Amino acid sequence: MTILILGASRGIGLEFTRQYLEAGERVIATARDAAGMQRLTDMGAQALKLDVSNPASISGLSWQLDGEKIDIALYVAGIYTTEGALSPPTQQQFDQVMHTNVLGAMQAIPQVAPWVEEAKGIFAFITSGMGQISTVESSFGWTYRVSKAALNMAVVAAQPDYPKATFIALCPGWVQTDMGGTGAPLTVEASVGAMRHTLSRVTPKDKAKFLHHDGRPYASW
Ligand code: NDP
Repeated sequence: MTILILGASRGIGLEFTRQYLEAGERVIATARDAAGMQRLTDMGAQALKLDVSNPASISGLSWQLDGEKIDIALYVAGIYTTEGALSPPTQQQFDQVMHTNVLGAMQAIPQVAPWVEEAKGIFAFITSGMGQISTVESSFGWTYRVSKAALNMAVVAAQPDYPKATFIALCPGWVQTDMGGTGAPLTVEASVGAMRHTLSRVTPKDKAKFLHHDGRPYASW
């Protein structure tokens, strides 16, 4: 299989790269700086330079993937904020989060999805349960919540335009990474292992679903 991982320099994206390479798959993985790209190349991945918050950077993706059949594409890049509704985000904070978590995905979809369709593959977007509207009880991580809810909408809305691909929104759980912190219950190895298992069982019937890392569907968005 050919796996594309957007945002693979650290954390969940790096672990997806490691596990898929270990399983013998071909991995194309992106990082936004030379050190991140070197890390990926040293592991055996094909590294591409990509800053998802920069439309000029994303606009080069399609030709770099020209002719590929991508079985699984993963949009992993993301940034986090903790502030709630008592302290509104600055425009700069808002733009940074929305550009990375939402605009980047919306820009990546037309660049990448046609190559996923070539393989009748899966395009998975790493979202968060914090973006689930129906269960929210607190504004903690307000801007991040808004960005992941918007990402979920982008995924579901785009699905009909790419009928040969299966788009899913996938939550990794709360994971021990730079973002998740050391108090998180899931190791990055366990979260990614579970998500790989889930991805191996995804079929076209799962189009536009919102899934937990272990494959359980969310009851609502
Ligand atoms: P980390 O903070 O460990 O890693 C974030 C990754 O995103 C890094 O590879 C980083 O690259 C990349 N990234 C950030 N901004 C950009 C950008 N503009 N262009 C390209 N890459 C970028 O986070 P995690 O691995 O924990 O998170 C991965 C995904 O999982 C995120 O979407 C996050 O929202 C989601 N998630 C994580 C949870 C957790 O508990 N950890 C829970 C729920 C969801 P760089 O090294 O260059 O900064």
